[in-house]
Amino acid sequence: MGVPLTGDKADGTNRHVAESVYRFGTRRINWYILEADEGLTIIDAGLPAHWPQLDNWLDENGYEFNDVAAVVLTHADVDHVGFTRILADRGVPVYCHPDDLPLLRNHPQRPPRWFLRNLWRPRFFAYALEMIRDGVGSVEPIADAKPLTDADVLPVPGEPRVIFAPGHTPGSCALFVEDRDVLFCGDVLATRNIFTQREGDPQLLGAADEDHDEANASLAHLEGLGSVTLLPGHGNPWCGDIDTALALTG
Ligand SMILES: [Zn+2]
Repeated sequence: MGVPLTGDKADGTNRHVAESVYRFGTRRINWYILEADEGLTIIDAGLPAHWPQLDNWLDENGYEFNDVAAVVLTHADVDHVGFTRILADRGVPVYCHPDDLPLLRNHPQRPPRWFLRNLWRPRFFAYALEMIRDGVGSVEPIADAKPLTDADVLPVPGEPRVIFAPGHTPGSCALFVEDRDVLFCGDVLATRNIFTQREGDPQLLGAADEDHDEANASLAHLEGLGSVTLLPGHGNPWCGDIDTALALTG
């Protein structure tokens, strides 16, 4: 069986989550730093208010801003694009799947219907309030990005391999760091139920998926990766065999 790792920080996140991988954001929304000899790769960028977390971590760990070599977006939903624009404006290359470029360039100005329909849930409402507090309304668009292509090993620190897994969004990808058995899965899978805000087993995002059937079918692309530390966009890390994780999605 897989083993969920629990938080040990005051804000509920356990920062050092795998070999040279660090978790940031809040209990509800994750982004990560992938550290390698050649520098740092940022995986997703949370919300604008999370920016000081990166700035402080660089300072505390003896890094300069120039050590940030790339930001790789698992997909272009606003709560993953966050402070990307600050990095892009300073010349850091941004990677995103071409099928999510329309989303990256032009974020919807209004929340989707599934979002509004779930606001009656107190814990979902709290999640919505957190997003507003942390600047979801001021996420800046990005004009262009270097493409993520299925099966490519990215020329960025840590050398993650792209696993295209559309459904949550048209351009959703997971990123597999083979030599560390780390799988950044974005919103292809979550370990925190987005509606009830309860931590749990690996699961699909359900009504939050743009095309839920496609998201479900895409899970086949993750099969056979072996024992991994699964690092989702929402929820605690989960360790175990990926095929066990997939079976748990039911
Ligand atoms: Zn998300």
